[in-house]
Amino acid sequence: MQRRTKIVATLGPSTDDPKVLDAMIQAGVDVVRVNFSHGSPEEHLRRAEQVRNRARAHGRQVGVFADLQGPKIRIEKFKQGKVDLEEGARFVLDADLPSDAGTQERVGIAYKALTDDVTRGDTLLLDDGAVVLWVEEVSGSEIVTRVVVGGILSNNKGINRQGGGLSAQAITEKDRADIKVAAEMQADYIAVSFPRHAADIHEARELLYTAGGHGGIVAKIERAEAMQALEEIIEATDVVMIARGDLGVEIGDAELPAVQKQIIRIARSMDRVVITATQMMQSMIENPIPTRAEVFDVANAVIDGTDAVMLSAETATGKHVAKVIEAMDRICRGAERQRVDMAAHERRSPVRFQSVDEAIAKAAMYTANHTGVKAIAALTESGATPLWMSRISSGIPIYALTRHVETRRKVTLYRGVYPVSFDVTTTDHPQLNREAIDELRRRGAVRDGDLVIITKGDLTGVHGGTNAMKIICVGEEVRTME
Ligand code: PGA
Ligand code: MN
Repeated sequence: MQRRTKIVATLGPSTDDPKVLDAMIQAGVDVVRVNFSHGSPEEHLRRAEQVRNRARAHGRQVGVFADLQGPKIRIEKFKQGKVDLEEGARFVLDADLPSDAGTQERVGIAYKALTDDVTRGDTLLLDDGAVVLWVEEVSGSEIVTRVVVGGILSNNKGINRQGGGLSAQAITEKDRADIKVAAEMQADYIAVSFPRHAADIHEARELLYTAGGHGGIVAKIERAEAMQALEEIIEATDVVMIARGDLGVEIGDAELPAVQKQIIRIARSMDRVVITATQMMQSMIENPIPTRAEVFDVANAVIDGTDAVMLSAETATGKHVAKVIEAMDRICRGAERQRVDMAAHERRSPVRFQSVDEAIAKAAMYTANHTGVKAIAALTESGATPLWMSRISSGIPIYALTRHVETRRKVTLYRGVYPVSFDVTTTDHPQLNREAIDELRRRGAVRDGDLVIITKGDLTGVHGGTNAMKIICVGEEVRTME
């Protein structure tokens, strides 16, 4: 069986070799993340282009996902590159210190307004919580702290406040410039880092469209405030990312498992796509096999219903790029085998469908899940029909048949949806059915005697035009009367 859960892998120095990219594509990567927190625009454009070239050579679609840096609040640099902080020591974050003048006693901060946002009694977590500082006082440019948890602190590490509440704007000047780069690379998705509310998502979308881009927006849930505005953010966005790294620091790691399940459930019920991210296979940055805990983490995300699982440093700077994707692929398939039986038991809240195409999409899934249908062929322009379909759990593959390359790339992220290049050249419905089924047959997706569902519109080529569902027995399609 084909894997349904999608794999997102972050590009970086470890993936620049075309041989490594080939191995990633062969191992089944669906979407690559270009991380704007590191590297130059030229580097990002080159990487995206290289991936698409290699994907084309393999006859595959790979989505490209541009991840904006956002207002990650960071320390600046140390003279020696790093320091070792001891518990109980005094340490100053100093907004006036030159950016490369950090010492054992003090370090600069990239976000100068931090001094306005923190007060005595706050707990600051550096490097995703590896170093913890307690704020004793703020005076002028200085935040004077006491080291609560010591350790190695190196250049440009992130700062979070426990409980959240740091006020930096979600979309920075750098992000505005990077959105233009994302538009130029024709990114299929672009991620807003540290959004606080729906307005941040709307703003990113507007900037992207103004720059001539078309990608879907990903809202990274990684601030305590975003959890307060969760539903409005999900409503505003196309995709939600459970950004467990920063979110865990802000709300506490113990809250994460429940929050992951909550976000996945709400996102799916609101017809949005969801990515589970960060440290899923962390030990494989160094090691060739995952820990048992990592196996369970990936499998549990699949069972929770995530669309995609994401790799960060595991592929960007890791030592075993192909192996980590192969391991994720294997674990997803294993978890999916357990899940198929659960499909029919799913209950969704009795909402009213908003449109005819949504009604057809969901009726098709209800039918598919209660008959012996082998495959679903959704003839689609924008990809909306297969998106609605994939919100209903099912073990049945959904093929998105479309002439638009943007749509084929977009659906690379949807669970259980597979892109198929398909041009509608006839208005003769029996002929169209035959062509669609032939396409599935060529891929080995169906054979004679299998039942297939086809959804389509009267006037193909029109967005939102799906208004019909056909159930056809492969091999007998010629005799189907229209
Ligand atoms: P990042 O976001 O990898 O860009 O930091 C994900 C996370 O915070 O988990
Ligand atoms: Mn983050």
